[in-house]
Amino acid sequence: MDKTDQLERNSWTVLLPEELEVVQNFTQPYLNFLNQGKTEREAIEYIYQTARNHGFMPIEECQQLKAGQKIVIKEKGKICALVVVGKDPIENGINIVASHIDSPRLDLKVRPLYEEDGLALLKTHYYGGIKKYQWLAIPLAIHGVVVKKDGQIVNIVVGEKPEDPVLTISDLLPHLAKEQMEKKMSEAISGEGLNALAGSIPLDKDEKNPVKTYIVKILKDQYDIEEEDLTSAELELVPAFQAREVGLDRSMIGAYGQDDRVSAYASLRAILEVKDPNKTAMCLFADKEEIGSVGNTGLHSLVIENIVIELMNLAGKNNYLDIRRCLGRSCALSADVNAAVDPNYPDVFEKRNCSYLTRGVVLTKFTGSRGKAESSDANPEFLGKIRRLFEEEKVSWQVGELGKVDIGGGGTVAQYMAYYGMEVVDCGVAVMGMHSPFEIVSKVDVYMSYKAYRAFMQSF
Ligand code: MN
Ligand code: MN
Repeated sequence: MDKTDQLERNSWTVLLPEELEVVQNFTQPYLNFLNQGKTEREAIEYIYQTARNHGFMPIEECQQLKAGQKIVIKEKGKICALVVVGKDPIENGINIVASHIDSPRLDLKVRPLYEEDGLALLKTHYYGGIKKYQWLAIPLAIHGVVVKKDGQIVNIVVGEKPEDPVLTISDLLPHLAKEQMEKKMSEAISGEGLNALAGSIPLDKDEKNPVKTYIVKILKDQYDIEEEDLTSAELELVPAFQAREVGLDRSMIGAYGQDDRVSAYASLRAILEVKDPNKTAMCLFADKEEIGSVGNTGLHSLVIENIVIELMNLAGKNNYLDIRRCLGRSCALSADVNAAVDPNYPDVFEKRNCSYLTRGVVLTKFTGSRGKAESSDANPEFLGKIRRLFEEEKVSWQVGELGKVDIGGGGTVAQYMAYYGMEVVDCGVAVMGMHSPFEIVSKVDVYMSYKAYRAFMQSF
């Protein structure tokens, strides 16, 4: 681990071979994390177990708040916080790195299974912003939980092992696609057209839906679940392929779900190394960012406040004024990805202000779209301090705006933290092909984001 600090540079230059090795060693276990954490629940489980293995104690087992103490808070299996208690009184604020562990995907509908033309299919409702055509004609794995009426939870993962079957959504052959090809891309494939192929063998020809009946039997035999149990389930179709090194120089990583598990992973690795910080350090891993941070596992809820109140309660400071002070005096990095300039699509990027692969972690002053709508615009005073920190700690970084002004934009969790008065700026890696089933990042950037988060939590 000592070797990691050899990579000390605050500008983008050619990497030396020994520096490349540091980066390679750091990112190798990241591939494993991506393969093991393809859903929010799986990512949280990985983070939770890693934290427990590194001495983080569940908050339920903590009696009081002591400097240096390491605490983990997990809610509903889908959101998690890791805390390293600082020497300063907690009401002076917390340094928070917040990422999200949900990614765009295809969720099964609550009554998904049907039969048509002698085939069994599963209906889906996509989650987050996808380009629908990207989800056709690729192998899909099914991940998630089914909760039975008696409360029993059945975990399902099919399609990850080489011997597993996969699901897929068929694409229309070009021979019959003349009309489709003339349509607008957004209209060529309908949401109701995203039905995954699940079976083709009729169990009993006298049945009304013999192919579907066979799938129902398989569900019963292999998982002990009834068809109606699917109404209380959380089943997600995700790309069945594994994370891979990309490029003949192996400089990049291609995988599903790097928005925003790359930030989750880098911040996890960072907080594992934070020791005796002055200010309390916290990594937040949130759900539901891709659909607006809504719901009781998203950051547009009272979850940050509730976590802070629980911590302050342990410190014996659960009065309203101290709680508000703690939140208002906190500082945050909204650890989320930005769009990397893509030479295949030069028209949508403003090259002076956009971010590039391999040029370091990206500081994004504002997000939002078309006139900064829905953006949290970071205060320059805060940005100045972050710049100085990164320079001192030899973190290579770049600025990044998400595309041209009138072209688009995006949201992050920054606005929900700014709500409390805390200083916050977006800080994460640049991604190419964001929201596609195979997103690309640069290994050097992943490493630099980890250095940035560690510096922020340890020294800010
Ligand atoms: Mn994101
Ligand atoms: Mn996203």
